[in-house]
Amino acid sequence: MIRFISTICVIITFSACAQQNKKVASAAASKMDYENITIDTTWTEKVVKSDAEWKKSLTPKQYYILREHGTERPFSSELYEVKEEGTYVCAGCKNPLFSSFAKFNSGSGWPSYFQPYYRRSLNVGTDNSYGMVRDALTCKRCDGHLGHVFNDGPKPTGLRYCIDGDGLLFVPKNAKKTTAVATFAGGCFWCTETIFESIKGVSEVISGYSGGKEKNPTYESVGGGRTSHAEAFQVYYDPKVISYEDLVRVFFASIDPTIVNGQGPDRGAQYRTIAFYSNDAEKAIIEDKIAEITPEYSKPIATQVVPFEKFWEAEEYHQDFVKRNPNQGYVKAESIPRRERTLAKVKDLVK
Ligand SMILES: [Zn+2]
Repeated sequence: MIRFISTICVIITFSACAQQNKKVASAAASKMDYENITIDTTWTEKVVKSDAEWKKSLTPKQYYILREHGTERPFSSELYEVKEEGTYVCAGCKNPLFSSFAKFNSGSGWPSYFQPYYRRSLNVGTDNSYGMVRDALTCKRCDGHLGHVFNDGPKPTGLRYCIDGDGLLFVPKNAKKTTAVATFAGGCFWCTETIFESIKGVSEVISGYSGGKEKNPTYESVGGGRTSHAEAFQVYYDPKVISYEDLVRVFFASIDPTIVNGQGPDRGAQYRTIAFYSNDAEKAIIEDKIAEITPEYSKPIATQVVPFEKFWEAEEYHQDFVKRNPNQGYVKAESIPRRERTLAKVKDLVK
C-alpha cells in the first residue's frame, strides 16, 4: 500500500514539476532567519493576505506549494533529511505544524510525520485533483496548502502526513525558547484555563483530567463523579519569563484552598484542588507557599500536593471554552468574575 501511494505521489510530482522549475529561482532563507522564529501557539487572528502580498512575502517555491497547491519533486526538499530536534512551522504564517519527534522516514521522498504539532496546526479537507480522492492538508492559520494525509503511517496514530517541505520552515530546538509544563487542578477547568492564559510567559493552557487512575476519562465520566480524576489543566510556560514559583502563586490566588472537594458553585472530588509536582524542587516550592498562606485562613488547607503522573487532554470543545463562549451562563456568572478577581491579586504577572 505504501509503495502504491508513493507511486501515485511520484506521478503527480513529475507532472507538476515541469511547471515548478520555471518558478524556482530564489534561494531559501538562511538558517539564521529561522532561528528568530518564536513557536507561538496562542495566536488569535488568522493570517489573510492578497495574492500580491503572498507573492511578495514568500519565496517562489513557498508560493508554489502554499498558494498554488503545488507539489515538490520527491527528495528535493532540504527538510527531507533533517533529523535534528526542533519544530516545523508554516512558511506562510509561522504556525507550528509538526515536531521533529513525530517525523519518520516514509521512504516517499517527502517529509513525513505521524501527527501534527497541536490541535491548531492543520485543517483536513478533500482534494479531488488527479482523479483521486485524497485528504488534503492546509494550515489552520493561513489556509496554505501543505500536503496530504494517508492511513498507512506508523504507530501510535497510523497516519502519514505527507508534506511538501518547501511549505515549511525548520526551527531547531536550541533556537527555540525552552518551554516547561506545570499541572494543577483548581475546580472548573474553563475558569482556570482563562486565568492562566492571561499570565505573562504562558504560551498555552490545556484543559484536561488528572489525579485519578482511570484511562481515557471523559467530561461525562469525570463530571459525573464516576472516576477518581479531577478537572485539571496544564500550563506551558517559558521559565525565562515566569518562574514556577510565580505560577504557584497564581494558582493559590485563583482558588479557595480550604474547600474540601469543591470550588465556587461546584462540589465533588472532581473539583478538588491539587498542585502536582514533577520534582523535589517543585514540591518544595508548593510546600513553602502553603506554609506562607496557612496563617491567612481560619480553616486548614485542603489542596493536595501529589506527584504528577499523567494528564488526559479534555475534549476539543472544552479548550479555550471561555474565549469561545463568552456569553455562556456559567462563564458570565463564574469564570469571568473569578478570572478578574484572581488577576487583581497578581497584577504584576498579567500579560
Ligand atoms: Zn500557515
